[in-house]
Amino acid sequence: MIEFACKALPWNILFGVGTLERLPREMDALGLDRALVLCTQGRRSQGRAVIKLLARRAVGLFAGAKMHVPSKTLAEAARTARDLNAQCTVSIGGGSTTGLGKALAAREGLENIAVPTTYAGSEMTDIWAVTEAGGKVAARNPKVVPALTIYDPGLTLTLPAKISAASGMNAMAQAVVNAAADSPNPLSSCLAVESIKALAGALPVVVVKPDNLEARAEALCGACLAAGALGVGIVGLHHHLCHALGGICNAPHAETHAVLLPHSVAYNAQAAAVGTRKVAAALGAADAAAGICELAGKIGAPTALRQIGIAESELDKAAEIAAEGSFRNPEPLTVKRIRALLQNAFDGLPPRPA
Ligand code: NAD
Repeated sequence: MIEFACKALPWNILFGVGTLERLPREMDALGLDRALVLCTQGRRSQGRAVIKLLARRAVGLFAGAKMHVPSKTLAEAARTARDLNAQCTVSIGGGSTTGLGKALAAREGLENIAVPTTYAGSEMTDIWAVTEAGGKVAARNPKVVPALTIYDPGLTLTLPAKISAASGMNAMAQAVVNAAADSPNPLSSCLAVESIKALAGALPVVVVKPDNLEARAEALCGACLAAGALGVGIVGLHHHLCHALGGICNAPHAETHAVLLPHSVAYNAQAAAVGTRKVAAALGAADAAAGICELAGKIGAPTALRQIGIAESELDKAAEIAAEGSFRNPEPLTVKRIRALLQNAFDGLPPRPA
C-alpha cells in the first residue's frame, strides 16, 4: 500500500535562453535590493557583468567562493556583506557559489538569488553546508532555498566538457538515489526518472558539442529536475560518502559523485530492487549500475577515486564516517562493506553488490 510524506519547497524558477536579462526586473518585483554578487575567483568577469546588469541594485562583488564552503570563506563573505550593508546575494556560478549564498542565508539571514552555470543543482535543495577542520557539516533548512533561480542555458556554453561530464554525473546521482530508494516518495521519484532520461540523452551530446544550446538546455533542465527530486526527497549512503570525502580531503565534489555512483547503486540494488529497475529503464540499460558505468565511459567522466587525487589512506576514515551517519539507507551499513565499496571505487573496478 502506498504511504509517503513529502514537504514542498518554495521554488521560484525562470528557465530559458536569455532569462538572465530579466534579473533586474525580477529583483524589483520581489522587493530585493542592495545585492552582493558572489562568484568564484575564475568567474570574476561574469560576476562583474552581473554587477553591470544590476546597476544601482548591486553593492559589490565577492569573488572568493570555494568548493565545500570553507568556514573562513563564509566569514569573509559575511564581513563583506555587512560592510556593504547588503540585503541579498546573487550567486552566479556552480554549486560552490550557490552554496556560499545559501550559507549566508542560513547564517546572516540574507535572501539569495541563484544563477546556476553548472549541473550541481544546489539551488533546488534545502541543504546547506560549511566545512571546518576536516569536517563538512550539512543541514536542511527551507529558508536557504533561493528567492529566485534563473536558469539561462546560454551561461553553460562555456563549461568545459570535462567539468560538464562530472557535474552531469553529480546531477545524475541526485536523481538515481531518489528513484532507487526502498520506499520512494512518488513526487521525488517522478522528478528523478524524468531527470535520468534527460541527462542520459543530453550529456553525451554536450561533451562532444559543448556549444549545442539545445543539449545544454536539456542537461540543465535534467539537473533542475534531479536536484528537485533531492530537494523533496532523500540523501543516502551515496551522498554521505561524497560529503565524508569532501570534508576529509577536499575531494572534488562532482568527480567524487561520478566515481562512486555505480558502486553505491550496486550496494543498494537488492534492497531497493523496484526503484533500481526504474533507474535502469530510464537509462535504457538492463542493469542500473552497469548503465551508469557505460554513460560515465561515454562522456569521459572519471571512474576511479585514485584518478581524482584521493589517497587510499583516506578510505578508512570515510567508511567510518559514512557508517556512523543516522540516515535511512535501503541496505544496512557496516564499516567493512562500505570500506570494500570504497576500495573497489578507488581501484576503478566494476561495481559489486554489498
Ligand atoms: P564549482 O561551483 O566549484 O564549479 C566548478 C568549476 O567550474 C569552478 O572553477 C567554476 O568557477 C567553474 N565554472 C562554473 N560555471 C562555469 C561556466 N559556465 N563556464 C566555465 N567555468 C565554470 O563546482 P560544482 O560541481 O558546480 O559544485 C560543487 C559544490 O556544490 C560542492 O561544494 C557541493 O557540496 C555543492 N553542492 C551542493 C548541493 C546541495 O544541495 N546543497 C548539491 C550539489 C552540489
